[in-house]
Amino acid sequence: MRRDSPSGGILVLGEIRSGRLHPAALELTAKARLLADDMGAEVSTLLLFSEIDVDPETLIGYGADSVICVRDRRLGLFDQEVQSRILYRIIRDTRPGIVLAPATTSGRSIMPAVAAKLRTGLTADCTGLDIDPETKQLLQTRPAIGGNIMATIRTPEHRPQMATVRPRTFAIPASDPNRAGSVKELTLPDHCFESRVVPLGLERSDGDDVNIQDRDVVVSGGKGMKKQENFVLLRDLAELLDGGVGASRAAVDNKWIPYSHQVGLSGKVVAPKVYFAVGISGTVQHLAGMQTSGMIVAINKDPEAPIFKVADIGLCGDLFDIVPRLIEVLRGRKGV
Ligand SMILES: Cc1cc2nc3c(=O)[nH]c(=O)nc-3n(C[C@H](O)[C@H](O)[C@H](O)COP(=O)(O)OP(=O)(O)OC[C@H]3O[C@@H](n4cnc5c(N)ncnc54)[C@H](O)[C@@H]3O)c2cc1C
Repeated sequence: MRRDSPSGGILVLGEIRSGRLHPAALELTAKARLLADDMGAEVSTLLLFSEIDVDPETLIGYGADSVICVRDRRLGLFDQEVQSRILYRIIRDTRPGIVLAPATTSGRSIMPAVAAKLRTGLTADCTGLDIDPETKQLLQTRPAIGGNIMATIRTPEHRPQMATVRPRTFAIPASDPNRAGSVKELTLPDHCFESRVVPLGLERSDGDDVNIQDRDVVVSGGKGMKKQENFVLLRDLAELLDGGVGASRAAVDNKWIPYSHQVGLSGKVVAPKVYFAVGISGTVQHLAGMQTSGMIVAINKDPEAPIFKVADIGLCGDLFDIVPRLIEVLRGRKGV
């Protein structure tokens, strides 16, 4: 759409996975609220689902002025064709100035299809969003050139301005019980749900079980782990801390651990309370996935390793000495 089309507020696509509201819906709604306050605009959050584990009104406490719900049994399994069609229709009818979605597998497949149909731009995988105080344009920041620079992108000519945002980029604030807003249920005609996709079944991947993004503690290993068998050390440490195991891309490329554990620019963004980087040098691409963690503990034998620059606690030495000793101490404390 050309910029001169009437354009208004911010529309957030809230993701629902297997009937559960994805935390990115709260995160993006809260961020959209801050952006909307800078523009003097309204925030709407769109939920497409067959069932949902929370009251849609919850989103109002996080910053939505309205929550638009499309509830239909045909939305139970994710279907890119159907969800893109519905999102396109709602954008066409409500004319938001900005559309945000999480950079999850579904967000990453719906948004480009809708942006192409609307003939507007899309900035994928943003790690920062702001409003230009003068032009009120959306400033969309994301790593570029292999993560070596941060690029800020604008969409001056076309509307809406569309962006996907990596989950866990922004903190989720506490809900404000005093906020007021509305929940609207939309009934759409049957043809909106037509699809060429025939679901044959649902198979869980390893990644569904190991969501390191939900853990308060993540223990990640890199090339310094030397071989797959040594990851048992990290699993033991993680288990004692009730955490999950992450990895650098070097460890994943060596097939020591599946991709679903990769942290970084081309992996997951995690922000646990405590992040252990074990035998990881700390390249910009790895830092892009963990530097907002509450506390970073680095274990590395090279005192010059860049990871020590971001670490709150740096243990310089051989990980094969340090990690077994940490495990021993924790087992002693827990009496196991
Ligand atoms: C476009 C692009 C996207 C990328 N995306 C990602 C990404 O998502 N995630 C990611 O991690 N990387 C990513 N990378 C790769 C990244 O540039 C690095 O190659 C990678 O992070 C290095 O992994 P590493 O730190 O495990 O290995 P290395 O850099 O080789 O570091 C190994 C470290 O282990 C230490 N060490 C070795 N032995 C021991 C020991 N016994 N005790 C203690 N310390 C020891 C060494 O001192 C060294 O610091 C990406 C690169 C590009 C170009």
